[in-house]
Amino acid sequence: MPNANTLPHIPPAARPIILAAIVLLLLACVTVAAGRAYAQTGAPSEDVGLSATRSADGTSATLTWTPPTQPSYQWIFVADKVSPDAPNTGQSIDSSTFRYAAQLLSGSAGTLLVENLDPAKEYVYGHTSLQISDGKFVWTPWAIYWPPIKPAPAPPAMQMPTMTMLDDGVYHYFGFFTSSLVVVGDDGVLVTDPSNNGRGQSLKAEIAKITSAPVTTIVLSHEHYDHVGGTGVFPDAEVICHINCQANFDLDTLGDVPEVDRTFSDRLDLTVGGKTVQLRYLGPGDGDATTIVYMPAEQIIATADMYEPRSLTEKNWVHDKHFTGTRHILNTISKWDIKHAINAHSTGTDPVDLMENVAYYNDLYDAVKPVVDAAIAQAGGAFGAYGLYNTLPQTLELPKYQSWANYDTAFPSHVERMLLAIYHGD
Ligand SMILES: [Zn+2]
Repeated sequence: MPNANTLPHIPPAARPIILAAIVLLLLACVTVAAGRAYAQTGAPSEDVGLSATRSADGTSATLTWTPPTQPSYQWIFVADKVSPDAPNTGQSIDSSTFRYAAQLLSGSAGTLLVENLDPAKEYVYGHTSLQISDGKFVWTPWAIYWPPIKPAPAPPAMQMPTMTMLDDGVYHYFGFFTSSLVVVGDDGVLVTDPSNNGRGQSLKAEIAKITSAPVTTIVLSHEHYDHVGGTGVFPDAEVICHINCQANFDLDTLGDVPEVDRTFSDRLDLTVGGKTVQLRYLGPGDGDATTIVYMPAEQIIATADMYEPRSLTEKNWVHDKHFTGTRHILNTISKWDIKHAINAHSTGTDPVDLMENVAYYNDLYDAVKPVVDAAIAQAGGAFGAYGLYNTLPQTLELPKYQSWANYDTAFPSHVERMLLAIYHGD
């Protein structure tokens, strides 16, 4: 691989010319960006399908392209952006950092490794060509490809499963990014959400360290497939799910859903080792079989996919989340006596995480509702709010939550979902 800071095939004596030519290129870019006419000389535009992949640590990037057909000098370059916030126009190339990641392309292999990149920086890469016209060198700004070639986010670290005692005989198992409530009785154990066979085996092994009693009851927190698998690991357990689960399970095409042994509609009280475990239905939340598991004496609550600590649920996972329903559930349970609040995808059980999310859902509702009301009043009907779907998610901000994880990527989707729940019902 050629070094990013050398000019393959170009003798040192020619480099000042190349430098000057690059300045011309940049001027040309600016000219194009400004919308003024630029007399392109030489071969017509040729798309070489340039793309770049940044290494996971952000220190290098591999550029690839298809070999061009035009018999000319063609170049790939990388430069810094003038600032991370600069718009993607010709002016946002920082010419002082122009890298000679250049390559004689015609008929050449189409990969180039660019090294020594700063992981914190965003770069611009592009494709241009050198033409000879009337005896002069002319740089042709064929195409500028704008990144992101930002570093790929590091994959979340897989933690060893943990089993934390919350009260006598009551545990929080966290493994494979998912929580389960574990309630140990003399003759049997209640668990929530085995999730899948692998996680179910891990859960079973952790329970065996505490008790020799078998798992006799499995409560499914809601109908989503990432929570309901793995029940086969506990073949003697009764599987309980809200009555809305079955209609959803009937639509399964993967063969992943379990047989449900018992359902409930509003409330079901179970007793495990003398402890009361209430299953409560407060309406749709994440999905429409959202079950709240509550142990009033121990002041322990377990919910699934309702919130994460100081983090917005990513947009991929909010399509089936009922936002006014979730707000209703969170407000309702926040008034119960709670010492520990287990939620599906967080390791902590501090009720503060729940309370902060109650505030978030209320603030989001309070920001969206008046806008919907005004649009409906102005139009004289609910249809007046429909157009907000295309504008409000791009304009509304809740600065108080900008420091929460995923705010930049997920907040517009949250506005969409709250809007839809208010004017459409879901
Ligand atoms: Zn879910």
